[in-house]
Amino acid sequence: MAKHNCAICGAEVGLLTEQKLADGNFICRKVCSKKTFKVFDKVHATLGDVTAHIEQIEKGTKIWEGIFVPLMKTKNKEEKLRQIYGLKGVLGYVSPSTGLFALIENRYKIFIFGKTTLACVYRVADLYGYEYESETTKDSEGKDIQKHYCTFLFRNTSGMYAPRIELGSMADYTALEKYFNELFGIQKTLRNSLNNAKRQMDAIKSFAGAVKAAKDGSLDEAQAAATAEAMDASVYGDRTEWIRKADEALAAYK
Ligand SMILES: [Zn+2]
Repeated sequence: MAKHNCAICGAEVGLLTEQKLADGNFICRKVCSKKTFKVFDKVHATLGDVTAHIEQIEKGTKIWEGIFVPLMKTKNKEEKLRQIYGLKGVLGYVSPSTGLFALIENRYKIFIFGKTTLACVYRVADLYGYEYESETTKDSEGKDIQKHYCTFLFRNTSGMYAPRIELGSMADYTALEKYFNELFGIQKTLRNSLNNAKRQMDAIKSFAGAVKAAKDGSLDEAQAAATAEAMDASVYGDRTEWIRKADEALAAYK
């Protein structure tokens, strides 16, 4: 049987103790694989993805302990954490007052009472996607079971930036989508459509301006950036305030 070495710690691994990565590297299941989240897709990850994810957890766990844990007990209404319900394999918490979003995984020890918590912490402002997906599988009796997933997509993030997380039900997704849409001011209801229409008009005007400028060759980089931002704001909501809050909170963890 072929023996390999863990590309991170160097330990010798075999069929039962190795995890193969997408780029052909192997890591050990005993130590290094356990440093990653269970929902982290190792099969499609390269060694660089794995090490970036492990660094993300090391940093995220410090931020979790320093910022989120104290906020769990806050009496101040504005600072209360908001749990995202229905996620399987992880727990999700938004801290609206600091602009941060944490995914955590609790590890329970069997013989020693207590748990350890690993965390990935993101800027709420970097959350650019929360897409629904469903999958139908068969149970042991051959009956169809529908499974529900949400794929989160984070920009500016090294490590686990597109976790696909199973949800308990379709209703869990609907609640999650509604929460984030409202948080970013992405309104889909008729009541808010005026506000939305104005923002879209601003984006279209700015875009039209850029197209015209490109034709006469006068488009500069600043104008291109402003256009991209206006388009973003119309689709994804204005995130200036979310960026400010998060960067303030994270300043101590640079
Ligand atoms: Zn290892």
